[in-house]
Amino acid sequence: MRDLEAVLQECERKLEAIHIPFNKNVTVRAGKLNARTWGRYWIYKNMIVLDPVFTDDRMQTFATENVLMHELLHSCNDCISHSGLWKHYAQKVNRTYQYKIKRCSDYKPYMNEELLGEFMQRFKYVARCEGCGTYVTQVRISDFIRNMDQYRCSACKGKFKRIK
Ligand SMILES: [Zn+2]
Ligand SMILES: [Zn+2]
Repeated sequence: MRDLEAVLQECERKLEAIHIPFNKNVTVRAGKLNARTWGRYWIYKNMIVLDPVFTDDRMQTFATENVLMHELLHSCNDCISHSGLWKHYAQKVNRTYQYKIKRCSDYKPYMNEELLGEFMQRFKYVARCEGCGTYVTQVRISDFIRNMDQYRCSACKGKFKRIK
């Protein structure tokens, strides 16, 4: 089990070093979020909640740091949205420390096979791009699931194959 408090301290140390004014009262814990989010910053609670997969040792540490950095940047003034100042800070952190903080990230590639298999059990529908191997997960039936042949992967233009 990964110590989120220790990862938070590491992220804070890195942000302080490049003078990014985050909220120093933030605490972090793992908890249930809706299926589309990996993490969330609760401004009134001074709290970051991350999906429990990030406390799992079968998830790469890089991913836990990356998602925590993303949320920590939301704690800066005027950084609720993913544009403007938030984006500016994200680019600075990415340049300095080689993170990949962006508006929307996929952390499945950072899980090992076993964890990925457990993670997929949450979803009713799973498809995989035959080109680049990206997984698409859905909790409800959608046009994408019904008419998968008509869709192409946005990353590589590959076709999708339903695997669940
Ligand atoms: Zn965000
Ligand atoms: Zn693809």
